[in-house]
Amino acid sequence: MQAAVVPAVSSSWQVKDVPQPQPGPNQVLVKMHASGICYTDVHQTLGRLPGPFPRILGHEPVGEIVAVAPDVTMRKVGDRVGTAWIQSTCGRCEWCQRGRRMFCPYLKSTGVDAQGGHAEYMLMNADATYLIPDKVSYEQAAPIFCAGYTVYSGLRWADPKPHERVAVLGIGGLGHLAVQYAKAAGFETIAVSHSPDKDKMIRDLGADEIVRDGKSLAAAGGCRCNPQYLKFDQIDGGQHTGIAAGRPARHDGRRCGATFDLADGSHLETHSNHWEPAKRPRISVRSA
Ligand SMILES: [Zn+2]
Ligand SMILES: [Zn+2]
Repeated sequence: MQAAVVPAVSSSWQVKDVPQPQPGPNQVLVKMHASGICYTDVHQTLGRLPGPFPRILGHEPVGEIVAVAPDVTMRKVGDRVGTAWIQSTCGRCEWCQRGRRMFCPYLKSTGVDAQGGHAEYMLMNADATYLIPDKVSYEQAAPIFCAGYTVYSGLRWADPKPHERVAVLGIGGLGHLAVQYAKAAGFETIAVSHSPDKDKMIRDLGADEIVRDGKSLAAAGGCRCNPQYLKFDQIDGGQHTGIAAGRPARHDGRRCGATFDLADGSHLETHSNHWEPAKRPRISVRSA
């Protein structure tokens, strides 16, 4: 099969012939129909995140199952599936027991420990696959497995209550999905955007209000919940202006696991066991 191989750190990707993998226990072989590109691919290519070279990246992969291992009963040939960042975890460590598998020290992740989706075929662990509804195209589905999953996780961990407002900071690759999820979940949704040229698009996505910064967020009444809490550390000088009580998305003071597109176009990556203590973002909750 052909695959986009990253031969070495900071090198160009090369389309090469590589052996087609065969499913082992609990695995399915997927013919790729789409494989999203994430800025994490750039970090990985530049060696900013751990992982061996040569390697095949791609952690937003979707396609059709063409073979299943004999022990797989939950998926069948012909299923339309995708997989997310986690292929497997140990199931026994503190983090797994606490339901926070993304911090498991034995985490095997897509495109890092397991071959990624920038190839004609890839293996997915059957229990790490998700069925894609027939009405959703592969192209639409692919980014959901990183960008969508990330912001939905943030929203879920932030655990907003029905009366609360959700602020989404930066309406880019992740934020444009977060606005739609927050709105679809029934929350009053405030977009924080520096880009007036995006206002129409942001309204079309369902945002109830658009503000430019923390001050105007506070003036608009503030919010009690921001699923991308870390972003406020980045662009608002850590003041968390306008946030009455942030429930941080996916961090617990020890480790983090989330990715964020920042409003200035930069990207913050906070993946669990990749953080060394000195690099961990400051985490705090402050009342406005
Ligand atoms: Zn990603
Ligand atoms: Zn574990």
